[in-house]
Amino acid sequence: MTVSAAEQEKTGLGNYFIANYPPFSFWKNSYLPEARAALDTAPRAGTPLGLYLHIPFCRKRCKFCYFRVYTDKNANDISVYLDAITKEVELLSKTACVGGRALDYVYFGGGTPSYLSAAQLDGLMTRLREIMPWDAAREVTFECEPGTLQKHKLETLRKHGVTRISLGVENFKPEILQYNGRAHLEDEIYRAFGWARELDFPQINLDLIAGMVGEDWDNWKRCVAKTIELGPDCVTVYQMELPYNTVFSKELKVLGNDEPALAVADWPTKRAWTKYAFDEFVRAGYDISSATTVVKDKAKTKFVYREALWRGADMFGTGVASFGHVNGVHVQNADTWEAYIEKLNAGELPLGRAFPTTARDRLIREVVLLLKTGHLDVAYFRAKHGVDIRTEFRDALDKLAAEGWLSVTGEGIDCTPDGLIQIDRHLPAFFDPEYISSRYT
Ligand code: SF4
Repeated sequence: MTVSAAEQEKTGLGNYFIANYPPFSFWKNSYLPEARAALDTAPRAGTPLGLYLHIPFCRKRCKFCYFRVYTDKNANDISVYLDAITKEVELLSKTACVGGRALDYVYFGGGTPSYLSAAQLDGLMTRLREIMPWDAAREVTFECEPGTLQKHKLETLRKHGVTRISLGVENFKPEILQYNGRAHLEDEIYRAFGWARELDFPQINLDLIAGMVGEDWDNWKRCVAKTIELGPDCVTVYQMELPYNTVFSKELKVLGNDEPALAVADWPTKRAWTKYAFDEFVRAGYDISSATTVVKDKAKTKFVYREALWRGADMFGTGVASFGHVNGVHVQNADTWEAYIEKLNAGELPLGRAFPTTARDRLIREVVLLLKTGHLDVAYFRAKHGVDIRTEFRDALDKLAAEGWLSVTGEGIDCTPDGLIQIDRHLPAFFDPEYISSRYT
């Protein structure tokens, strides 16, 4: 079926953003022997190691969320899960692929890591740091939902070496937050931000979503102005997707309609809102550091997790349904609570599916992900992958340059401002043919 240009610009159902390559739909359970072999092999020289921890609990499910999260677990379930994830880190810490490396970066994501109580966090982090210390890590990020924070919880995080707080604000307007199923209130944003500043976390990121259901120009402008007033070190602006398996997608299916019947902005509008936000942030002194982020001080404000991941670092993805990458093999954990807990209770790593990448897959993955920073350095790829990406990807680069999305100048490939804001829809131009047009998940 051919989809017209006008159809493509509507916000239809499905994932739009590219987070990995080859696409997840090609990862298979039958590749798990390759994943185990990768874990049993010493690391490639010079490859950093990170740790991602998925904390899958939320107060309520946001209507656009497709992550593996639970809103019905009690204190006993949470304790079972925290024991399991600690056990997983312990098993991983004994694998040959660690090779004596200290953790370079740590990321607590979710779900809502800040859903855990201060006592639960203190217990978890104490045990984890005994198994795999992160004192030498360049960055420890912790995602927070503003309404779940108390000052003493943030003090616990600071005590355990968290360096980067990421606040899931998304929008400031109470009606929009409520309609989209967010659990927090506007006042809680200011309170949480104030505590994080008071405790002097080295970096505070604030997330916004352009195009939440019910959004309009006036409110979006107010959201951008309020963010600038708070002055976080980093702002991430996502454009709203409508993935499958969300409350919104099910509501739409009930209507027997594949078309969003709700007030969901189309892609050109969401891009216009993102552009407006970026322009305002730049006027306020921020620099654009990727298709989704602006930072106050580009030289100082790094995002180690993203940089390392996009450049092919190793990462243990722990927790139910988590994604990781080890020695060239993509890995995802078992994606149900029962399977995850059961395997760890049996003393086994909870692996679910994997994909062993080729050298070419890794080259394409790095080109595609780093293009989201708006710039590719030809010399970097020549030194690392032994190819000239200008010739290797000539067709894709010529096409995108002719359409005005990027330019190739000497040893640099640079997205135009318009190209950067919509880079994800152009990234499949770099994919090998067998991976184009596949369903993404
Ligand atoms: S808080 Fe985040 S992880 Fe939890 S339901 Fe909302 S979007 Fe999903």
